[in-house]
Amino acid sequence: MSAPQYLDLPIDYESLTKVGSMMGSGGMIVMDEKTCMVDIARFFLSFTQDESCGKCTPCRLGTQRMLETLTRITQGQGREGDIELLLEMGKGIKDASLCGLGQTCPNPVLSTIAHFRSEYEAHIGGNIVRPEPAKPWSSPPAKTPARFAATLSAMPRSSRRAVMKRLCPSSA
Ligand code: SF4
Repeated sequence: MSAPQYLDLPIDYESLTKVGSMMGSGGMIVMDEKTCMVDIARFFLSFTQDESCGKCTPCRLGTQRMLETLTRITQGQGREGDIELLLEMGKGIKDASLCGLGQTCPNPVLSTIAHFRSEYEAHIGGNIVRPEPAKPWSSPPAKTPARFAATLSAMPRSSRRAVMKRLCPSSA
């Protein structure tokens, strides 16, 4: 969800579906205006990409290419045409993947482009250059992506899936 027009949106199945979101398991992540949505998209795609079983090419390779592109953008090396490339790859992966993971894993990228395109443009235009991707959560420190990723990596695969499903229903 983004933007002022959604602030009063009822949190129920029909309302969320109407604006292209989903209820999932009912979890909700609240971020402030300092959160970089490009970093957030990269963060979620990195987990779902890691979960790809590799059976079908669009999911296996497409998510890798999307992740590489997002990483370049967040490191200040974005190029003209990267947004269009991400849109094309995301739609292709959704259309051509066999299971729900591939069909939904581009969603964080597609929805952040749809609702926060100016943030992508600012990165690519050189107005935001960071030596390394910013932390999606500034506090508490224990929830920074690096620590969070380390915690998740140490979990058994089944537990990791359960955590990601709660955080990002589209990854289920
Ligand atoms: S879409 Fe599903 S079946 Fe295909 S590679 Fe991704 S996880 Fe595997």
